[in-house]
Amino acid sequence: MIEFQHVFKSYGQGRSILADISFKVSAGEFVYVAGPSGAGKSTLLKLIGGLEAPSRGSIQVNGQRLENLSPRARPYLRRAVGVILQDTHLLYDRSVIDNVLLPLAVTGLATDIARARARAALEKVGLSAKENAPPIELSGGEQQRLAIARAIVNRPAILIADEPTASLDRETARRIMSVFKDFNRVGVTTLIASHDDDLMAEYATRAFKIDPGRFADSADRRAAASKNTVSNQSLERHEPSIGEGV
Ligand code: ADP
Repeated sequence: MIEFQHVFKSYGQGRSILADISFKVSAGEFVYVAGPSGAGKSTLLKLIGGLEAPSRGSIQVNGQRLENLSPRARPYLRRAVGVILQDTHLLYDRSVIDNVLLPLAVTGLATDIARARARAALEKVGLSAKENAPPIELSGGEQQRLAIARAIVNRPAILIADEPTASLDRETARRIMSVFKDFNRVGVTTLIASHDDDLMAEYATRAFKIDPGRFADSADRRAAASKNTVSNQSLERHEPSIGEGV
């Protein structure tokens, strides 16, 4: 589904932000990307979304190798990966539903089908009643849900979100996370960058931790633990939680 092989990323002539990163994420996983500011969490997500290219190494997303993606294959990747960046890039001079219709404009869908899809996306995030409102009238949590609706309207197999709960109160953050969990439950592979270890531990099943110059994967810790444990039974009991020093 997503595979990184010895991926390096630097910007310009600068130092490597990500250095020699390899992992595989299977369909339907829910991965939390942790790490201090500036560590490279957004960079990792942008590489998966094809918004940045690796400096070295190989990236496969949904069967496509990204390092030599032809311009013709790019729209396919755009549909396969729903992206929610920190700046939601909502269009404030358009209505809520027009914002959700935007990614469908290039798909050539008939207008009535596109509107039905956009309405279904708004319904999934609980914003049906606001479809004609301008985004400026929405609360922070509602704007985040609108960004999610826009990211999932093309029914992507993968959803990536960069700090989607950063400026929200606890209750609203939980509501946003349960929207992600709902999509994940129906099979959408989900990767979320966040600073909020406690909140993410409630939802994610795997954690990547990026520190400057270092990458750790909770799945590797589990694999190492299973090699070192005497019996599977004890492994089950001591399965490390994702917040546990990853
Ligand atoms: P995080 O999401 O963990 O805060 P980022 O991936 O945004 O980290 O950034 C990692 C590092 O890469 C930072 O030092 C940042 O300044 C740098 N960086 C990010 N994007 C660019 C860019 N387009 N050009 C140059 N440097 C960048």
